[in-house]
Amino acid sequence: MTPIIYLNGQFLPASQATLSIEDRGFIFGDGVYEVTRVVNGQLFESGRHLKRLARGLADLRLDPEESLAEIEEISMRLIRDNGLTTGEGTVYLQVTRGAAPRTHHFPPAGTRCTVFMSAKSFVVPHDKRATGVSVVTYPDIRWARCDIKTVNLIPAVLAKQHAVEANVFESIFVRDGAITEGSHTNCFGVIDGELRTYPASNWILGGVTRDVTIELAHELGIPFDPRPFHVQDLPRLEEFFLTGTTTDVMPVVQLDGRPVGHGRPGAITMRLYEGMARRLYSGGAA
Ligand code: PLP
Repeated sequence: MTPIIYLNGQFLPASQATLSIEDRGFIFGDGVYEVTRVVNGQLFESGRHLKRLARGLADLRLDPEESLAEIEEISMRLIRDNGLTTGEGTVYLQVTRGAAPRTHHFPPAGTRCTVFMSAKSFVVPHDKRATGVSVVTYPDIRWARCDIKTVNLIPAVLAKQHAVEANVFESIFVRDGAITEGSHTNCFGVIDGELRTYPASNWILGGVTRDVTIELAHELGIPFDPRPFHVQDLPRLEEFFLTGTTTDVMPVVQLDGRPVGHGRPGAITMRLYEGMARRLYSGGAA
């Protein structure tokens, strides 16, 4: 079945969708995106994704014709039209500054933003969760607005390729000795029984799954301090895990070739995963 996508006001088969070669997403990477989880036809944490989208649009001065409410309605229609009312999936959204002759400055007033959305099924990596995954560190070569979910993803592309070539799950960015986040995930560590993660700032993307994980830690009474941990702390790490829309809570058992803690998924990590699973699968999608 050819997927049905949404592009600039139209629902159409993906094979019939075309974009201008002058699209500023293509020419400059001038746009933002979102990936939202779908469980049994429901969007998970849609409100948080839309809030982050709205912030990114405002920061980059992008003004699509579609309102946030319309984006949510389009998501629901794509879920239905692509047969995702049961099982697991994702909705992808990308907004660019539209198509116009190439100039670095903004295109003429009235240039319509390009809005592209699609929905597809996805396989949850439960097998990896059972064993835990390995990661490697990678220099954080990104810009100073990592909090905006821009389609400019070259450092993430290079970092993830480094992970693939090292035959591990993810690359972990290191900036000034601190673990910031993964190429497409946020990072949490447990040191002396306390959960830590890089604080929300311009140096990381404020992950929706990260926010839910912090909420769960509070609910479960797990001590939490939003303060970075550093490369020199890695030998003291009792647990380490990643969070993300397609990753949920993923235990890390090996970092740069060395075992984390006992080399098995940690107890706090798995409590948080179970909390996440309850929200994902007990009608928590909202
Ligand atoms: N950090 C980065 C750099 C990401 O690209 C992503 C997701 O793509 C995340 C963290 C996780 O964010 P979320 O939980 O909203 O998927």
